[in-house]
Amino acid sequence: MHMDTIAAVSTPPGFGAIGIVRMSGPAALSIAQRIFKGKATNWESHRAYYGAFCEPENQDVLDYGLLLFMKNPHSFTGEDLVEFHCHGGHYLVERVLSICLEAGARLATAGEFSQRAFLNGKLDLTQAEAIMDLIHSPSQQALHMAAHQLEGHLSEPIRAVRKAMIGVLAAIEANIDFPDEVDPPETDVIIAGLDEATQEIQRLLATSDAGKIWKQGIKMALVGEPNVGKSTLLNALLRYERAIVSNIAGTTRDTVEDDYNLRGIPVRIVDTAGLRDTADEIESIGIARTEQALNKADIVMFINDASQELSPVVAAHMQKLPTEKIILVHNKSDLLDTAQESPALPAGFPTPAIEVWISALAQQGIEDLENHLFKHFSAHQLQSQDISVNERHKVCLLRAQEALSRAKDTLNQALPFDFVSIDLKEAITAFGEIIGESVSEEVIHEVFHRFCVGK
Ligand code: GDP
Repeated sequence: MHMDTIAAVSTPPGFGAIGIVRMSGPAALSIAQRIFKGKATNWESHRAYYGAFCEPENQDVLDYGLLLFMKNPHSFTGEDLVEFHCHGGHYLVERVLSICLEAGARLATAGEFSQRAFLNGKLDLTQAEAIMDLIHSPSQQALHMAAHQLEGHLSEPIRAVRKAMIGVLAAIEANIDFPDEVDPPETDVIIAGLDEATQEIQRLLATSDAGKIWKQGIKMALVGEPNVGKSTLLNALLRYERAIVSNIAGTTRDTVEDDYNLRGIPVRIVDTAGLRDTADEIESIGIARTEQALNKADIVMFINDASQELSPVVAAHMQKLPTEKIILVHNKSDLLDTAQESPALPAGFPTPAIEVWISALAQQGIEDLENHLFKHFSAHQLQSQDISVNERHKVCLLRAQEALSRAKDTLNQALPFDFVSIDLKEAITAFGEIIGESVSEEVIHEVFHRFCVGK
């Protein structure tokens, strides 16, 4: 339990209908009594009370609103916790916070409420991370995975393999410590246990890539020579007029970014400055940004004027990328005489992952393009799943996997059990780090400092 009482604004900055200030710690209740005045003076846990927020010194009223009291240990942090719901004025919410501080609370650091919940055993580390994932979920699937992680769908299998490995370690150490009294465990049985744990690690590791798309979305760059219709296509995909469309080449000088929902997949679209050699300084900067956007993108949509040959600058850029990252869109198909042959890619040119003919202006072929895109991603990365391990879990799982593999090698070489025990301990520590059972201050700081203040 912590000795000090922390306070922070828990709603986002700005103006809104309500704003929430939270306080947690042993003095939360007594501080609240100094600054919140209502009819009731004896507050029951888990009930809301109406009253006035007052300056602690002169009792001047700042606002009227609600107080919510949650008595320890039945609160998010496991400590006495008070929430003040006031009107959502930016200055007002900050004032309510400052009267909490004037009355004795300390300003909370980022993630400190969640960190206290973790340290008081209300959540394990994966569950604390799941709360952050819930807040940042950009898609239904990401929400679904975060909710399962919060329920313990990641910590349960981790606890199970950790427990199994502790069992193996105990059997080995009993034999090391009391060789005359305890028989050595059978190597085959230990190896079977290690294999089972390794399979579980691999199952969890496999959830990492699939989850990424739902959690982080896809970054897609639109690239092409000026005037091929990039901005028109962006507007058609976003279904509103986001970018300026004009027939003056080089209108899009900077990159324009927007979020787009491709049947539930969050897509960040970056419309780039046109690709071409130019003497215009501002346009050159824009083009340099295009190159950056292209390298950072998960997928690049090259747009070509269907009535023209494939531009050599575009072709050169296409050849720099792996084909699975390339979508080739022939726009302005309305200008094509149906009898006219569509321009084919030069001989020996790598086949793009997707190639379509559309008219962004006439909104023809957009749905077909979206079908291809969705199918392209769903093929390998979009299986619906329960949970998805993050980078931190992945590093720990890989460490555990390597340690178990070393332990297995040692057993196969019939080396002394002491060596096996070192590697088993390493694996157990790595599993413990995922859920926060054996975790350094540094890791705890690393996890919680990414949280926002007030969470
Ligand atoms: P950007 O420079 O690549 O962003 O191109 P814009 O989207 O600004 O379009 C350039 C010009 O091409 C504008 O006059 C558009 O109306 C026109 N345009 C865009 N898409 C099509 C299309 O599918 N068919 C035809 N005929 N014109 C188009």
